[in-house]
Amino acid sequence: MTEAEITSVLLLEVPPGLALTAEQVTGTVCVWCVAPLTDDARVDLGGRGTFRPHSCARCHQALTDMHTIRAQWYEHCESCETCQADARCVYADVLRLHYAEVRRTAGRQPMTCLSCGQEMTWAERCRPVNAIGFSRPLRGFAHIVACPQPKLRRASA
Ligand SMILES: [Zn+2]
Ligand SMILES: [Zn+2]
Ligand SMILES: [Zn+2]
Repeated sequence: MTEAEITSVLLLEVPPGLALTAEQVTGTVCVWCVAPLTDDARVDLGGRGTFRPHSCARCHQALTDMHTIRAQWYEHCESCETCQADARCVYADVLRLHYAEVRRTAGRQPMTCLSCGQEMTWAERCRPVNAIGFSRPLRGFAHIVACPQPKLRRASA
């Protein structure tokens, strides 16, 4: 991915303005981990006008890694005949596991399936899905072949 592509996908990771504090909007703290930022150690996320979110170097690196691996995984699935046939592909498995790991490192929730809405563990076969959302591009994931039956929720005590 190019730097410009990374910047545009990272901006999509920024929570909507209403959910942010003034410090997050103006970039005096990291928009994700809210660590205080100094001018020389902050990354501009490319907002406009008064919406100028910035991030710390650590969050920026973690999310850059996450999206770089996701892009590799997505491109693989799009170009691999095995994956296109929904067959088990060892390369896709490796990319999925790598992605799950960097996603965890970035502090993100586990992936959920766009089709069935269920959370997916690292062991479940799935693939990245890029679609057009209501107001922004949607980058999600979906189970391969068929979604499993919804797991019965354990009754909370
Ligand atoms: Zn941060
Ligand atoms: Zn493949
Ligand atoms: Zn599913």
